Amino acid sequence: MPQHFLKCSRARTLSIRQVARMDEAAARDLFQKLRWPDRDGEPECPHCGHGRCYTIRTRNTFKCASCRRGFSVTSGTIFHSHKLKLRDYLLVIALFMNAVKGVSALQISRDVDISYKAAFVLLHKLREAVDDARADMKVRGEVEIDGAYFGGHRRPANQGREGARPAPKSEKRCILAAVSRTGGTVTAVVSSENGKDVLEFVRRRVGQADTVYADEHPSYDALHARFEMKRINHRWSYSENGANTNGAESFFSRMRRGEIGQYHRPSGRYLDRYAAEMAYRSDRRRVDNGAVVYEVTEMALAHPMSRTWKGYWQKRAPGHHATAA
Ligand SMILES: [Zn+2]
Repeated sequence: MPQHFLKCSRARTLSIRQVARMDEAAARDLFQKLRWPDRDGEPECPHCGHGRCYTIRTRNTFKCASCRRGFSVTSGTIFHSHKLKLRDYLLVIALFMNAVKGVSALQISRDVDISYKAAFVLLHKLREAVDDARADMKVRGEVEIDGAYFGGHRRPANQGREGARPAPKSEKRCILAAVSRTGGTVTAVVSSENGKDVLEFVRRRVGQADTVYADEHPSYDALHARFEMKRINHRWSYSENGANTNGAESFFSRMRRGEIGQYHRPSGRYLDRYAAEMAYRSDRRRVDNGAVVYEVTEMALAHPMSRTWKGYWQKRAPGHHATAA
């Protein structure tokens, strides 16, 4: 069996310049290798799973030898019925993942010379693919858990003016993060840092933990029944006998820099996806950029067409503009 593509040495580095110079045939070849990584890019029918397919070179499509149906390298994935060149998708992914603190749709639309709408939807589809690919991931070992509030932008016009309509209820949401000291970050977005949501989050995303570190917020009290716990009192000490949540805090500070620097005020609606994106970035921060670009492309090609983002701009009422970057 051929070696999995991501394990090859040539998958390790990839510069923006290399991607920009890539021709469409090379991009298609790469997409095939990432869509069917265990078959060295040899297509497998997405309709019936049959392994023998004919290549229709003139149209860059395939035809299944068993069910006789046609498909392309992007059929059924988030790139389904793509409008951009495959090379440009790769370029977007490379720019997206090269920006350690995240990148805005506006920036991508300028850099790749695609419409803002195309960039906006594409970035959201990529976040969705990354988030869903990691949905079953659990953190283990020495685990730090903490919560922090994000989002909640109010339009200045709604603030404090006599006779103006009252300010809308704050859209601030709490992000819970569990960070393993040996690697791995998982997140959830909840209305507030509370015991019930903490417990539910831990059930879903924390596996076998040797020790759980948390601050003295009462939301984490119930975890004593399940784990060996170490609690930190921030007023007294940041690290006493290894009892600290520095890993979780540095995740939140990266998230905060991303929020301020690139996403400005990520709307509450998509906050879970932004958090998942930042968790992924955090977990891959010491991995070669080429490997990360290929991995995200592979996740995107393994992800089914997005219901949320299919025809997104067509579905929106006229005059209603998205505010998220
Ligand atoms: Zn088939």
